[in-house]
Amino acid sequence: MDLDGVVWRGREIIWENVEALKKLEGKKVFMTNKATSRWEIAKRLRKLGLDGEVVTSAYIAAQYLKDKVESAFALGPFGLYEELALAGVHPVDSPEAEAVVVGMDRFVTYDKIAEAAALVREGRPFVATNTDKVYPTERGLMPGAGSVVEAIKVASGREPVVVGKPSDVAFRVASGGEEAIVIGDKMETDIKMALNNGAKGVLVLTGVTREPPKEVPPDVIVVKDLRELLKSL
Ligand SMILES: [Mg+2]
Repeated sequence: MDLDGVVWRGREIIWENVEALKKLEGKKVFMTNKATSRWEIAKRLRKLGLDGEVVTSAYIAAQYLKDKVESAFALGPFGLYEELALAGVHPVDSPEAEAVVVGMDRFVTYDKIAEAAALVREGRPFVATNTDKVYPTERGLMPGAGSVVEAIKVASGREPVVVGKPSDVAFRVASGGEEAIVIGDKMETDIKMALNNGAKGVLVLTGVTREPPKEVPPDVIVVKDLRELLKSL
């Protein structure tokens, strides 16, 4: 299941869903397109009394690259460096980096874009944690990972492999090959990932989607909140 719009909305906790999740049986995997480390999220979930596995786009990127390369030039938050290092993909600054990984880098500079674009142009694997163009904050919409990825795309002339939701890589890492149901608040990421992988989707109207879509695909159910999902089981 997704986090933003399901478990919380920014700092606000969606308690009706949290309480229902505690009663929901089966293995739970919490999934975010944020390129943070898993433990930052796990810590927040534990405070709410929720436990389960955590998958972030930083972790997915690391899993995707670990059998392919041993080092990468990374642009992103600290958690991205942690997850890469933990998977044996050493975050390096040098022109010898074997891959380029791009997430939301708040400290992006012209030199970093130039370095990343040069590596990508030379043919190194180009991985984007996600391509969310903007994200909402108290100050309004702020540039997301997609804005940084776009700069490197334009400068290198190459397309990245996007590993976050709705990619198949994300589904594979999160489901671990087991049968899964995807719960989320966005049709174009959570539910799309479910349908692309032959899984069922639960669209919950507590996040960005507030109205049921006009056309609901056969493998998707729409619920007001997760209490409603519990009742329907
Ligand atoms: Mg969401």
